[in-house]
Amino acid sequence: MRFKAAVLHSWGSPFSIEEVELDGREGWTWLRVRATGICGRDRVVWRGGFRNLKTPLIPGHEVYGEAGSRPYGVYPAVEAPCNGSTCTLLLGETTPGGYAEMVNVPSSSLVELPTREYARYAAAVCGVATMIHASKVAGLGPGDKVLVTGSLGGVGIHGIQYLAMRGARVYAFTRRRQYARLLEELGVEPVHSLDFYRRTGRVDVVMELVGARTVNESMRSLRQGGTLVLVGNIGGEPIVIERPALLVMREISIKGTAAYTIEEYREAIGLVAQGRIRPFYKAYKLEEVNKAYRDIEEGKVVGRAVLVIDSPAGEEEAHPQGAG
Ligand SMILES: [Zn+2]
Repeated sequence: MRFKAAVLHSWGSPFSIEEVELDGREGWTWLRVRATGICGRDRVVWRGGFRNLKTPLIPGHEVYGEAGSRPYGVYPAVEAPCNGSTCTLLLGETTPGGYAEMVNVPSSSLVELPTREYARYAAAVCGVATMIHASKVAGLGPGDKVLVTGSLGGVGIHGIQYLAMRGARVYAFTRRRQYARLLEELGVEPVHSLDFYRRTGRVDVVMELVGARTVNESMRSLRQGGTLVLVGNIGGEPIVIERPALLVMREISIKGTAAYTIEEYREAIGLVAQGRIRPFYKAYKLEEVNKAYRDIEEGKVVGRAVLVIDSPAGEEEAHPQGAG
């Protein structure tokens, strides 16, 4: 199959937009990509943060499009036979991803969408599914107080809506004060300083989406026996615990959370389809991927940057069927 893609040839360098020729795997389906979200995880991939990966690489695991004229999302951890057993491949990492006109995936990873609002799913689903999973990791209960750092990012702005929907009392931390009213509209309390707990009381859970840059401060807001869930570390720097005594004396738990199950992915799709989560995104063409990365870095995007891919890849490829 021949199609256009954004290819990364060396870590941390700009993407090259080029025609690629890829064979489909046996039994896999070609999906015509309509929208792909640029996840925080993609930026870790881009800068070479995962040692197991190799270039050239086509990133993108938040992939929505059409196969046989039906609308689908792709659950990003795909099973594939390898060395006589089964391996889990990650879309956009160990198998080519959705920064492209076409993507080859196993049919078992396709989740049918209730509507064709591809960009809305690309914007919100990964963040919501991540928060659904993180809430379980945290043992979140109704009425719990939760601090979310990085609340204007893709996981943040969609995740806070999920937490509020679940009945949590959410404190949404951001340094960008101009979005305070927006956060209030979403049913959460905006906080611009991490000593907010002196006013509100301590929280039960911290959803740490920023990582090293805020974790020492965010931890201070936790109650005795509270839980900090580390969802991401956007800068990739080592995390140093500055006050271990705080952790010890308050018996704070630190837990990591990775990804989400296919059931959680379906649940997130349902919530977006029902309009219970409002998607926030900025749309870019595939050719604008480098600009999208710059905009994210410069804090110009609220929610997700989404690649909207609508250039038809030829008459025949518009209705892909079965393996390529
Ligand atoms: Zn994602």
